[in-house]
Parts: sequence; C-alpha cells; structure tokens
Amino acid sequence: MLVYIAGSGAMGCRFGYQISKTNNDVILLDNWEDHISAIKGNGLIVTGDVEETVKLPIMKPAEATQEADLIILFTKAMQLPQMLQDIKGIIGKETKVLCLLNGLGHEDVIRHYIPEHNILMGVTVWTAGLEGPGRAHLQGVGALNLQSMDPTNQEAGHQVADLLNEANLNATYDDNVVPNIWRKACVNGTMNSTCALLDCTIGELFASEDGLKMVKEIIHEFVTVGQAEGVELNEEEITTYVMDTSVKAAHHYPSMHQDLVQNHRLTEIDFINGAVNTKGEKLGINTPYCRMITELVHAKEAVLNIK
Ligand code: NAD
Repeated sequence: MLVYIAGSGAMGCRFGYQISKTNNDVILLDNWEDHISAIKGNGLIVTGDVEETVKLPIMKPAEATQEADLIILFTKAMQLPQMLQDIKGIIGKETKVLCLLNGLGHEDVIRHYIPEHNILMGVTVWTAGLEGPGRAHLQGVGALNLQSMDPTNQEAGHQVADLLNEANLNATYDDNVVPNIWRKACVNGTMNSTCALLDCTIGELFASEDGLKMVKEIIHEFVTVGQAEGVELNEEEITTYVMDTSVKAAHHYPSMHQDLVQNHRLTEIDFINGAVNTKGEKLGINTPYCRMITELVHAKEAVLNIK
C-alpha cells in the first residue's frame, strides 16, 4: 500500500517511522520548511527507545501526486480542514483516510472531503515528541483503536488495522470506537486545559481539593453531553479511568501545557472542552466549566499574542 502521513510532526513521524519498517511505502507530508530540509538532508533521526536514522520521503502536500491507498491524518485539530483541502490531489475513489487526532467532531469535518465509506475514525494512546526539525523522540508503548465509519465497509478498517499491526502499532478494530474517542477527550479535557491554565503538573492538579472538584465537574459535563448525543459513556468508569491516568502521569505537564505555556502555540481547546460546550449549547445543556475553561485558554492565547 502507499501510505501518506498528512501532518508529519511528532505523531506523524512515529507512525511514518514504524510503517516504514513494513513492506508498505510511506510518504511524509508536511509544510514545515526546516523539518522537510532536515529529513531530506539527513533522514529522520529517531531517539528514545531506539536510536536510528531512517531515510524517508517527505514533501509538501501540493507536491504529492501519486494516489494514496491510505492517508493517516496527524495535524493538530485546528489544522485539519486546511490539510484536507491540500491533499485533495492524492485522494482517489478507494483512498482510505484514518483520523487519530485528539478531540471531538473531526468526522464532521472529514465528511466534507471524503466519502463516509472511506473514513476510519480512531483514538490512540501512543505518544511522541519532537526535539527539533527532523528529530523525533519516541518512547514507550501504546495502542490504538479504529473503526470504519460506514458499517458496511468494516473490511477496510480491518485491512488498515492489519497494516498498522505489521508496524507494531497495536491496532484493534473496535465495533464501537466513539465512546473511546470521548473517553480520551475527557482525559484531555480534565488535565490538559486545567494544567495549562494553572501551570502545574497533573499530580499537582489532582492533589488540590479545588482542582479535583473541577475535574469531577468537567467529567460530568463530558458524560452528560456525550450521553445526550447517544454515546455510551459511564461516569463512574470514566472517573476511574481519569483518576488512574492521573496517577500514572502525575509528574507530567500535559501537551496543552507544552503548547500554550512552554512553546506559545495555539491549542486544540475548541475540539476538547470547547466541543463539549458547543455541543451542549445545541442540546440545551449548560456546561459552565467547559465554557469557562475554553474562554480562559483563548484569553491566554490572546494575552500571549499567539496566532
Ligand atoms: P505536531 O504539531 O507535532 O504535528 C502536526 C504537523 O502537521 C506539524 O509538523 C505541521 O507542520 C503539520 N501540518 C499542519 N497543517 C499542515 C498542512 N496544511 N500542510 C502540511 N503540514 C501541515 O502535532 P502532534 O503532537 O503530532 O499531534 C497530532 C495530533 O495527534 C493532535 O491531534 C494531537 O492531540 C494528537 N496526539 C498527539 C500525541 C503526542 O504524544 N504528541 C499523542 C496522541 C495524540
């Protein structure tokens, strides 16, 4: 198969690197000039669990001409519509498109560009970081769940899961992936935005009585809105999952802290707490915690003059 990684930052490099070890062809797509030059010049340098340099083709989306068998989307959430626009030239009738972005509502965006029977939605707990242009830091083991959006085309989802498993990406075909997407979004919605706003680690947030109260209110809003949308979510189970994650990741600053506080980058807040607030408004459900957190994160982006 010819696999394109549409958005070859941290996660795109992980998936591109691992898939390059299989019999499939991988092409990285990105528009970050320094990253492209570094990978074209020196190869992709991988550090962490393995130290390796691999030669991988990388280009801008506009330069890609060969029709894709599979496109794995790995932009940040707010960059997704532009990416889908930019890769139109490589999308054929049979091209499958897999979305593993964090957050909610991406299928509504993707449907504007890709027919439903070619869309695969998923969620991953793999992680990755970038040390600089052309340098990916890959540590730890993860997994992913995916599902074909069109129930009559499950075969496509199974084929993609098989390909990802050849690359040791621990993929599972999931007959009901949407609750898992919400569960991960809820973890992000409780920890990412709050730790970014409070400038603290996950452990510090959960050690605070007020922090914990806020976490529980956010979970309640996610579950109430999700259930109203027909997603099978169990508040007790999600609370346990969030609490367990907070213990495992106690010393971490979540990725939104890295984006907003450490690197002054725009955040994915509109697709996490913001998505719950927007969906809540449409459903007539009040979500004051998600609304306030979204507004505060946007205010912080403005204060820092991030564009
Ligand atoms: P990233 O910012 O490192 O990578 C995104 C890449 O997309 C960048 O290199 C950017 O230049 C490129 N890009 C964006 N728009 C483009 C366009 N129109 N044309 C060409 N290139 C474009 O982000 P990431 O950390 O890899 O995260 C990607 C997604 O995966 C996010 O939704 C994130 O929340 C999710 N995620 C990340 C991790 C992690 O550990 N990093 C883990 C799980 C999920």
